[in-house]
Amino acid sequence: MKFFKPDFELQHFSEITMDWLKANRVETIFSDLDSTLATHDLPAGDDLEAWIQMLKEQDVQLVIASNNSQARVDRFCEPHGIIGFGRCKKPAARIVRQHMNELGAKDDTTIFLGDQLFTDVWCGKNVGIRTVLVQPIGQEHEPIQIVLKRKIENWMKKRW
Ligand SMILES: [Mg+2]
Repeated sequence: MKFFKPDFELQHFSEITMDWLKANRVETIFSDLDSTLATHDLPAGDDLEAWIQMLKEQDVQLVIASNNSQARVDRFCEPHGIIGFGRCKKPAARIVRQHMNELGAKDDTTIFLGDQLFTDVWCGKNVGIRTVLVQPIGQEHEPIQIVLKRKIENWMKKRW
C-alpha cells in the first residue's frame, strides 16, 4: 500500500504557495487537469488564474499532463498562456518523461500534481519524481469509472 503514498497530501492546489515552492525546491510542476485544477471538462475558477500568475512570477513552469483529449487541454490552457499535453497515457511514464526531457525539467526539481492515486501519483512514481495528491475539485461531475476508482483509493488511503 505504501507504494502509492504521495510525497505530499494537500487539500487544494492553492496550498502550493511561493514559500512552499521554495522550501521544496520546485521549478517545474507537471499537473493533471480534470478535478485537480478545474472541475471535469469545465473551465478554471478565478483562483486558478491568480495561482498561475504567482507561478509565473516565481519562474516556476506549469505543464498540464492530462489523459483527456488534446482539444480539452488546449481549450483550458489557451486563456492562461500555459502549455499542456493531452492523451498522456498516465500512469505510464513514457510520454510525461519525454515532455520533461524536451522542456529540460530536472528530476529533483519537478513534481507531479494530481487528484488520482492510480493515475497521477503512480505516473509521478513511474517517472521517478516527487508527487503531490490533492482533493478532487467538483467530484459530482466525475464520470462513473472515476467514482469507482475513488472508492478503491479511499480504501487504500486508510491503510498507509
Ligand atoms: Mg484528475
